[in-house]
Amino acid sequence: MKQRLLYLLALLAIAATVVIGKSWQNFAPQIHARTPQHVLTMRAFDVGQGDATLVTTPSGKTILIDGGPNDAVMDRLGRALPFFKKDIDLMILTHPHADHVTGLVGVLKRYNVKEIYYTGAVHTSSVFIEWLKMIKEKQIPMHVISHKEEIQFDEGVKLIFLYPDHELAGVEDASEEKRGQKKNNLNNTSIVFKLTYGRTQFLFMGDAEVPVEETLLASGVDLRVDVLKVGHHGSHSSTSEEFLKAVSPQYATISCGRNNDYGHPHLSTLKRLERFGVHAYRTDTEGDIVIMSDGEKIIAP
Ligand SMILES: [Zn+2]
Repeated sequence: MKQRLLYLLALLAIAATVVIGKSWQNFAPQIHARTPQHVLTMRAFDVGQGDATLVTTPSGKTILIDGGPNDAVMDRLGRALPFFKKDIDLMILTHPHADHVTGLVGVLKRYNVKEIYYTGAVHTSSVFIEWLKMIKEKQIPMHVISHKEEIQFDEGVKLIFLYPDHELAGVEDASEEKRGQKKNNLNNTSIVFKLTYGRTQFLFMGDAEVPVEETLLASGVDLRVDVLKVGHHGSHSSTSEEFLKAVSPQYATISCGRNNDYGHPHLSTLKRLERFGVHAYRTDTEGDIVIMSDGEKIIAP
């Protein structure tokens, strides 16, 4: 009886070792990948109908791309960053529309923003003017994106600016007017850039629409990335078939508000993403989206 019990215990011990060993094997790379010094994190915040995305590099540097239509970004930053972290190393305003710039005003007040990239395109809205005023008051250096350029942002992390490829400083209504169209379209002044970390790549589209996509395609630049931040909240005016083919992302994020008035994201955009086998995440249905990279591969939910 005692012998049988010992035999059973021994068997159990072997089984436990195998099971624990196996799960550790599965778990160990995750732990390694999640060690902050190796991981770059992109957070597409759920801020309602607008855009606000935070990138944290493996060394802890931060890039905030747009701020959304309200102050929700403050709460999201508070949760995403350690309580002692009050620096935003780089703030990028893709274009001056209120659903991108509004939240940035509060960020300028509460955080130590070290540098700002924008296009120089302007808007007469009071919130955009307040944003400019705050920057002037705080004497934050501003860099105008007006041509293709590559910036080594942090160790292993590069920013490759693809658009605008021409001067937009002072422009209020973009290139559309030059083409004889009546409609003002600041969307197509959006900064478009690639972020690379190791072998992984992200593409941030702002609210750029098909005309910008066509310019990018015609320029012959390599657009392939792993993660696409979909242009213009998933509107049907962005993310064309040809563009998706060239970008061929594995994952996409769509920033939009629950039951928004614009019908974003458009069903046709969602269908296109599906047809190309892209796993698309939406802030309106899924809340904050967190996508990570360990430099070799993307770690998505
Ligand atoms: Zn927008």
